[in-house]
Amino acid sequence: MKKIIHIDADCFFAAVEMRENPNIANLPVAVGGDPNKRGVISTCNYQARVFGVKSAMSSAYARKLCPNLLIIPSRISLYKQYSDAMHAIFSEFTPYIEPLSLDEAYLDVSESEDFSGSATLIAEEIRDRIHREIGITVSAGVAPVKFLSKIASDWQKPNGLFVIPPDAVMSFVDPLPVRKLPGVGQVTAEKLARYGIYTCLDVRTYGLSKLIRQFGVFGRRLYEMSQGIDNRDVQARSNRKSMSVEHTFEHDVERLEDLMPELQELIERLTLRYSKLDSSYSIHTYMVKIKFSDFSQTTIETSARTRGVIDYESFARLVNAGWHRERKSVRLLGVGFRFKLDDVEQLLLPFGGDFPDEDSTQSE
Ligand SMILES: [Mg+2]
Repeated sequence: MKKIIHIDADCFFAAVEMRENPNIANLPVAVGGDPNKRGVISTCNYQARVFGVKSAMSSAYARKLCPNLLIIPSRISLYKQYSDAMHAIFSEFTPYIEPLSLDEAYLDVSESEDFSGSATLIAEEIRDRIHREIGITVSAGVAPVKFLSKIASDWQKPNGLFVIPPDAVMSFVDPLPVRKLPGVGQVTAEKLARYGIYTCLDVRTYGLSKLIRQFGVFGRRLYEMSQGIDNRDVQARSNRKSMSVEHTFEHDVERLEDLMPELQELIERLTLRYSKLDSSYSIHTYMVKIKFSDFSQTTIETSARTRGVIDYESFARLVNAGWHRERKSVRLLGVGFRFKLDDVEQLLLPFGGDFPDEDSTQSE
């Protein structure tokens, strides 16, 4: 029996913008295109949703629904940074991570020994750390299979956790509307409704052979999902080229020597994460990132001297050199590696991705 966690940030782009600018946190906020240039809403916060604003809606119409809506042009490279920080936290718990988008991922924690292997506690810890360290909220679903974990993460959104333990799978799926299943869009849902199929229990009652006749291969898949079966593994990307951990100080750190205790801790976290990777990853480069109190940022790298041995001195020298570039108080310190992947490994990159919905709606 597997333990899968699906993590999904709440109104991600808008949440990042609110985090970056706390002054707008209580306003209706959307990230999207210019209403005067046929722009479209990409994400909006919950204050905006009260007015009926939704993803994929035209910005002009959104503004009509909510005249005070603040529409911010999207800043993907910023969202990417938040996404990387989330993934850095994920990978402290498991190397089996399948990203679905910038703010969504499956984690297989079946082999994880953290919290005595409790996926529920791991999910709570991940949610808590993302909130504390990154400043946004995520929702999580825990289940024995992928598709149920994804449905579960949506169940208590926003900022929620929902767990479907193995012995509750059948009672969860029985009344589950088919529209919630991956691959069932509006068209398929309407077709199913014509056969009187609205829930997973209806799917099972209808029977496998008739489903295959009406829906082909997907009929079998439907029948499996209606029993909570999903044999897809979490497809960990093995093409990771780097790994890093970072820490944002509660109070900016003024003196260089006061960074060193944190450096020690970061290196330990990095080492722990590195130890969970397979042996094909050899460390090629050390990296240090320093963000100063004025939000300026510097990164500095050096070749790793000894393969596989993590040496504190090299990192300390990087921190020293990086700090001297600005000599200001420090807001964030990060350390990381770049890897040199075996050539064979490069050729075996797995395909990731989830079942595409026939009319997939933008995920929040
Ligand atoms: Mg999301």
